[in-house]
Amino acid sequence: MVLHLRRTESEYNRRTHGGSNISKMAKFPWSPFNRSDLDYWLGEDPYFQLRDWPDTEDEVCSCEDEPPIKLMAALSSNPVHCMNCNLWVEPETLGLSSEVTQALANWAAIARAIEYLDLDSQEYEAFAITEEENIESPLNRRGRDVVTLLQHTRPCYLWWHPCEETRVNVPNPTCPICDRPMISYTKCFFPVWVCQLDWIATTN
Ligand SMILES: [Zn+2]
Ligand SMILES: [Zn+2]
Repeated sequence: MVLHLRRTESEYNRRTHGGSNISKMAKFPWSPFNRSDLDYWLGEDPYFQLRDWPDTEDEVCSCEDEPPIKLMAALSSNPVHCMNCNLWVEPETLGLSSEVTQALANWAAIARAIEYLDLDSQEYEAFAITEEENIESPLNRRGRDVVTLLQHTRPCYLWWHPCEETRVNVPNPTCPICDRPMISYTKCFFPVWVCQLDWIATTN
């Protein structure tokens, strides 16, 4: 089966993940699925579905001061990213229990599936966008539960998929849970807004 992707991965990441260029995917031993490089998915390698990619150093956070982290699928097997540099935080640096590791892997698989439905831009697109944008969707409710599990490692936010309306019309987003204005997180290289009561982060 060939999936006809109408948007490119870089366009998708620009729209939803603050301009990150996440082109290679990590594979971790606990991941329930393998990953392929989407560039190859788009036609450069006839065996793309058989490939998986190790993470490389320039895709892994090397911040030395242990910044806060965020739960963000970004089409990858590892949903833990650094709030400052936007790169992967290796799970072994967080000392995760097997329970938390499994919860992370399960959530990443679901989030990635929904991201692909969004990226496919066909019959499931509206469904996928609703799941991503509605803070009460199962995706986001379970994401908040995983964020709670991760709080014992570092401060952790759930990356809230920014709505089209928020990006275009609202310079200062409102928290979708407590309805208070979100505050600017200034240590990232692109605009990030957070609610420190509900551990939500987003961009616009
Ligand atoms: Zn970092
Ligand atoms: Zn809030």
